[in-house]
Amino acid sequence: MNDIFYMLALFILGLPIGSFLNVVIWRLPREENIAWPPSHCPKCGEKIRPFDNIPVFSYIILGGKCRNCKDIISIQYPVVELSTAVLFALAWPLTGSQLGWELTSAVIFTAVAIAVTGIDIPHKIIPDELSIGGLAVGLILAPLRAGAWSGLWWAFVSALFGALLLFLVRVGGKAIFKKEALGFGDVKLIAMIGAFVGWRGVLLTIFAGALLGSIGGVIAMAFSKEAREERLIPFGPFLMAGGLVALYFGEGIISWYVTNFWG
Ligand SMILES: [Zn+2]
Repeated sequence: MNDIFYMLALFILGLPIGSFLNVVIWRLPREENIAWPPSHCPKCGEKIRPFDNIPVFSYIILGGKCRNCKDIISIQYPVVELSTAVLFALAWPLTGSQLGWELTSAVIFTAVAIAVTGIDIPHKIIPDELSIGGLAVGLILAPLRAGAWSGLWWAFVSALFGALLLFLVRVGGKAIFKKEALGFGDVKLIAMIGAFVGWRGVLLTIFAGALLGSIGGVIAMAFSKEAREERLIPFGPFLMAGGLVALYFGEGIISWYVTNFWG
């Protein structure tokens, strides 16, 4: 019963944060101010009234259209709000069903993952505010989570380890394929992920990210002409998905692997 209460609370918390992430996804790559001006219709510029700005609910009431100009509101808005809410709720059982820094870290990491996904897919960039900003937050949270200053040291080493690893992949990829296979944004992103998941988590993140990326790449090529022609699949969303796998299942997967293959 208690679990349902906390999951519901996290779900409800996720809705307005999802709304905020929509603003971040729209404005950050356009280098607009996040806080000002208040939400407005991107088509007609009409300020969105508080009642029309309720997550998911307003989208349904308005029938997915702007009240003023009747232009279609992107389905991305309610999708981002709902995904944030669902992933926040799931963070509760996945971090051991208790309040604390583990849960706080998971919720923040999830929010960054959604923002990175929403920006990297259409714009093929990962803003420093998310990667470097997230890294700073990760470094602050690590000693709190570990309950010791050594947590900060390990987060720093893990961030550096991840960045170095993907930097080598980037240089190697350039030499072999004669084109940029991996952006520098991904190198900064894995540093951020490393601060949250540790150095072993970094290995798992890259492995899981590459696996998910291959599957995602095949699907994208099948459905999107752009993906087929450019052969450029943004890696950021898959790295973040891999990071979530490492964050939640890392300990289990690593100990299973060590027992079965190194035992
Ligand atoms: Zn409008």
